[in-house]
Amino acid sequence: MIIWRRLFSEFTRMSDIRLTDIGANLTDPMFNGVYHGKQVHPGDLDAVLQRAFDTGVDKIIVTGGNLTDCQEALKLAKTNDRLYSTVGCHPTRCLEFEQTEGTTAEEYFQNLLSVCQAHARSKVIAIGECGLDYDRLHFCPKEIQKKYFEKQLELSAITGLPLFLHCRAAFGDFIDILKRNKDKINGGVVHSFDGSKDEAMAAIEFGLYIGLNGCSLKTENNLEVVKAIPADKILLETDAPWCEIRPTHASSKFVTTQFPPAKKKEKWESGCSVKSRNEPRNLLHVLEVVAGVKGMDVLQLAQQVFVNTCNLFKL
Ligand SMILES: [Zn+2]
Repeated sequence: MIIWRRLFSEFTRMSDIRLTDIGANLTDPMFNGVYHGKQVHPGDLDAVLQRAFDTGVDKIIVTGGNLTDCQEALKLAKTNDRLYSTVGCHPTRCLEFEQTEGTTAEEYFQNLLSVCQAHARSKVIAIGECGLDYDRLHFCPKEIQKKYFEKQLELSAITGLPLFLHCRAAFGDFIDILKRNKDKINGGVVHSFDGSKDEAMAAIEFGLYIGLNGCSLKTENNLEVVKAIPADKILLETDAPWCEIRPTHASSKFVTTQFPPAKKKEKWESGCSVKSRNEPRNLLHVLEVVAGVKGMDVLQLAQQVFVNTCNLFKL
């Protein structure tokens, strides 16, 4: 009886949790069952969303990565009250500003702006993802990345929306560009943060939040950084279908909730999750890990992150 009561009180406690996945790439073909251009199983995005909503993930921000992707993300966001989207161009795709046929860089920018303005605040709630990625210069050279990262900050100035930022191995240039455009910026989050403690503190000092997902929690070193980030500066995301927490990661020992086993994509069944394809439901694991690392109660952290999310995105 006592055990049952304890289980029940734990259940009602957990059902108080309201999470926002601030970054999910739900326009990725994997959610249509397509992997490397090949249809492997039926699309199952509705089931993926339902699993998330049933696990306390109350809202999801669908990440936009370039002009067409942002149009698709917005279209998806309009289908459900709990979905929102971002508008921007990912650093690895910034050559599109100059190399989209029949479009000048200024026209590409204006097209991004009109997607923002059509539904600013009601559906489009951030500019991004934008930033710098020096780990993948083969997709887009440094100078182009810097030029169009800075250009996209104008989208924030015009719309008043906060930034959804991406930074990989480029923190020096990244913070320099932000600092010299401080007047254009309306807050923001460095998503998928995997930098050092000093970088986290510099970002926070500049007024940014830190977005954490499975990629931010891979190593003991990552966890040490997370320990140092104040809870009132943390936002949570999955970056689904990427950045899942794996059993080999330092984070995995802090995961407490077990979900039904996932199936390989080739053995997909209705209602199952897919092995190696991260999904927004798993945001609960990110919460559990961050709470565990910081020695915080899960519910207390969830409430703080809820406040942070509302503050930044005005949800
Ligand atoms: Zn990113």
